[in-house]
Amino acid sequence: MATINDNYLKLKAGYLFPEIARRVNAFAEANPSASIIRLGIGDVTEPLPAACRTAMIKAVEEMGDRATFKGYGPEQGYAWLREKIATHDFQARGCEVDASEIFISDGSKCDTGNILDIFGDDNTIAVTDPVYPVYVDTNVMAGHTGVANDRGEYEGLVYLPITADNNFTATIPSQPVDLIYLCFPNNPTGSTASREHLQAWVDYARANGSILFFDAAYEAFITDPVIPHSIYEIEGARECAIEFRSFSKNAGFTGTRCALTVVPKTLTAKAMDGSNVELWKLWNRRQSTKFNGVSYIVQRGAEAVYSPEGQSQTRALVNFYMENARIIREQLTAAGLAVYGGVNAPYVWIKTPDGLSSWDFFDKLLHTCHVVGTPGSGFGAAGEGYFRISAFNSRENVEAAMKRITQTFTG
Ligand SMILES: *Cc1c(COP(=O)(O)O)cnc(C)c1O
Repeated sequence: MATINDNYLKLKAGYLFPEIARRVNAFAEANPSASIIRLGIGDVTEPLPAACRTAMIKAVEEMGDRATFKGYGPEQGYAWLREKIATHDFQARGCEVDASEIFISDGSKCDTGNILDIFGDDNTIAVTDPVYPVYVDTNVMAGHTGVANDRGEYEGLVYLPITADNNFTATIPSQPVDLIYLCFPNNPTGSTASREHLQAWVDYARANGSILFFDAAYEAFITDPVIPHSIYEIEGARECAIEFRSFSKNAGFTGTRCALTVVPKTLTAKAMDGSNVELWKLWNRRQSTKFNGVSYIVQRGAEAVYSPEGQSQTRALVNFYMENARIIREQLTAAGLAVYGGVNAPYVWIKTPDGLSSWDFFDKLLHTCHVVGTPGSGFGAAGEGYFRISAFNSRENVEAAMKRITQTFTG
């Protein structure tokens, strides 16, 4: 008899977004004339930059000609894309990242999950709370945790609370942990980490032989010039950090799929026999075996992000969402709500008023304003009492939603 991976049974069965959908559908059925505005899910709304579309159309044409047709590409990604990434995203910011240390993939979601393949099962794992659920669920699936309690916390994981009390930057743990997931600018809180905070993490990781998983999916949304975009801007990070980046949010590639992971060749971890093994070699082996690369067409689309037109078009896209974020922040503040984030990230994190729980505030916004957001408690126990509003939407929807909220809360 075939058996299953029992760890899947420990998962809190995709509770957050199905529960949001259930409540929204019930409300919509009972109130068919209500026009509901969804500021909940973190997906982009605006079309692909013209430079990317043009490059992909050209690539499709090349695929139609025997002389320029492409079959399997390099598993690591085409060198012309990796070179551009190394130059523009890293070397231009003073980071020592070589093109050979970059692995192109079909998404950071996959990479942040797949990276566990090359690590042992007995590592102690730390995540922030609230957190991007992928980091937690992939560790549950891999058998790295026990069962969840009724707050949704899994036995065996180290949770590092990030709340207004610590300015949304986790306190460096007092116990040794081996693998640490950091996401800055942060989803869901919209917070960022200063150079000093990141240096403290790098120093901790080097002192303890830990590895940092640094998710920089939102780096393009940083507006404050003193905030680092890459963990490799921090001294010593090449000895302790893997960085994940994606074209999903800066270039609207959520449905097109292209991302990258940086594994420095200077990064090692311990084998059972006590020897130090290069993680680059393991990740290269893993990708070459289990992955066959991103399509040529999509890699040409991603390359176009680095052309002068692509740079100005992606900048305009990011600025468009950040103007939404500014409007959301201003209007919610005017409505008397305490808001965080939204300055260097496309997410605004609200402290729920009057001690309402995250779900009570969700219901209140849905029923009185017909606006959908995401309850903070869905991202972790320490997210209780908070609420996420996404700036990924049309200007029209953002303005209409904010008008309804200010009318409700300012009476
Ligand atoms: C959107 C997002 C990503 C990007 O994931 P892709 O699979 O590349 O689309 C990565 N990390 C976080 C925290 C995100 O919110």
